[in-house]
Amino acid sequence: MFEAVNGTNFEELVRLDEPRSGLSGVIAIHSTALGPAAGGCRLWQYPSDDAALADACRLAEGMSYKNALAGLPFGGAKAVLRLPEGPFDRDELFRAFGRAVRALDGRYVTAEDVGTRVRDMEVVGEETRHVAGRTARGGLAGGDPSPWTALGVFEAMTVAARHALGADLSELTVAVQGTGNVGGILCRMLADAGARLVLADMDPARRDRLAAIHGARIVDVADIAAAEADIFAPCALGGVLDAQSIAAMRAKLVCGAANNQLAGPEAAALLLERGIAYVPDYVANAGGIINVAAEYLGEGPLDAEARVMAIGPRVATILAQAAREGQPPSRVADRMAQDVIASAARLAA
Ligand code: NAD
Repeated sequence: MFEAVNGTNFEELVRLDEPRSGLSGVIAIHSTALGPAAGGCRLWQYPSDDAALADACRLAEGMSYKNALAGLPFGGAKAVLRLPEGPFDRDELFRAFGRAVRALDGRYVTAEDVGTRVRDMEVVGEETRHVAGRTARGGLAGGDPSPWTALGVFEAMTVAARHALGADLSELTVAVQGTGNVGGILCRMLADAGARLVLADMDPARRDRLAAIHGARIVDVADIAAAEADIFAPCALGGVLDAQSIAAMRAKLVCGAANNQLAGPEAAALLLERGIAYVPDYVANAGGIINVAAEYLGEGPLDAEARVMAIGPRVATILAQAAREGQPPSRVADRMAQDVIASAARLAA
């Protein structure tokens, strides 16, 4: 299963396979040059082991870049668990996962991601201390990372709107794809800032509740990327920016929480060609891992907040450099992150 990627630039790939608990998946450690490799644990349906492995690798490399640019002393990794097809004991599964994390002896630090929640991380914590995203205790950082992710996206969008559209959010319309944990909180922040909202979600109840609270317009999930709006905020799953969606897009700025928004390397160039500014996803959505890192390091919420508020100025630097060089912002951000990781690796050598 791992032959295809071993020998590439991944430090460690661990197969998870424990039929008794239903645990099946992979932990992909991309880099520990900056510190223990940190990244969430995703529980999702995958058609094959190869599909799970490919997703884990893509996400783990993204985590290395995200952590490096957020200034965190952590490398990048991701765990991807295949959702069992039949009934399963959730606590048993996460205990088994916790043992797998423990066996890595601190090289990997886990937390929640799509399909996992605070309670799952509490169960993982019965087996290993290398876990965050647990209930906050004693005034320290902790808990659901989603509000921190939403705050970071909001800061990124505020700065990018001024830079790319020369406007304040109160003058703009934002199309939000996905009104879940992050998208829902982002909608509230945007509404409080005076932005108009257009919403789409696969879950009509969630979407309708938010639309009623914020007086938002609703569109079909198939139409949200091309909605009449100034900003498109992908807050569902990845891969939404492809040739088709970019060609149809009316917004002139993309900034959202979803990981891996670019469907392929050509998407960044297509956005540039169409004059659509793009805030690299892992720069905008670093708030969650910043809070996870603060929890793991025993810091308080104010430490996390200070790092999340630094996302806005970082976005300004990236967009300005991209404009100067005529490059896609994602390429500028990748280069910056690669430089940070390479310098740390040189110092350690
Ligand atoms: P979530 O599961 O709570 O919300 C996702 C929402 O998107 C759900 O309401 C779902 O119904 C909806 N959705 C799914 N497919 C859709 C589609 N095609 N069109 C419209 N809506 C669709 O997840 P979340 O925690 O809010 O995370 C959202 C995204 O942000 C994910 O890509 C996640 O990886 C990323 N992210 C989240 C965090 C965090 O702290 N939660 C941190 C970094 C990145």
